[in-house]
Amino acid sequence: MLCCEREVWLRAFLTCAIGACSMLGDLGLKYGKSAPERAVFDNATHATVGGLTWTLIVVLSRKPIMRSLNAIFSCFLLASFIDLDHFIAAHSWHIHDATHLDKRPFLHCTTVPIVLWILFILLSSIFHSPEFQQASWIMLAAFLSHHIRDGTRRGLWFCPFGSTRPIPYYLYVSLSMSLPYLLYWLLSLHTFTEKSDSNVSLIDV
Ligand SMILES: [Zn+2]
Repeated sequence: MLCCEREVWLRAFLTCAIGACSMLGDLGLKYGKSAPERAVFDNATHATVGGLTWTLIVVLSRKPIMRSLNAIFSCFLLASFIDLDHFIAAHSWHIHDATHLDKRPFLHCTTVPIVLWILFILLSSIFHSPEFQQASWIMLAAFLSHHIRDGTRRGLWFCPFGSTRPIPYYLYVSLSMSLPYLLYWLLSLHTFTEKSDSNVSLIDV
């Protein structure tokens, strides 16, 4: 009972932390003095929201956080590295070039993680690899948390179909806070189907 109560508080704390961290990051972006300062603050926020998203998925899965630190850190790093595509598209390491592109860089297209996720899931089923499957969910969580956050400024981009309008501010914060619950629900649906198909063990989040 005590354990259950602790879990509920931890979930509530992590959910609020995602919302608070996103809003704090937006304030830093608004009031940052220079372009590099704003970029660093924005990227740190993406990384933290990504890490918190996977931590909440671990808590929802009732797995010990200490055993999932690698996965949490992977989600943290990947959510940050997505912005490297600005520099790749600009062919430059200068922050001014990277933030003044004509169009959005390729890793900011939401079709990319969706296609990759489907591909990884298929490959993990073919090769019966729980590690591959775990990587597919971490990748999806990192990308979606990053894209939702960017989406409040520029909308979600589903190339080659086009972009949505910018996500209204409070909808973006709510979506960021709900994302771990949505992914956990999809993950449990998927592992349930896998389990009834064969004796594949539940993935280690
Ligand atoms: Zn970005």
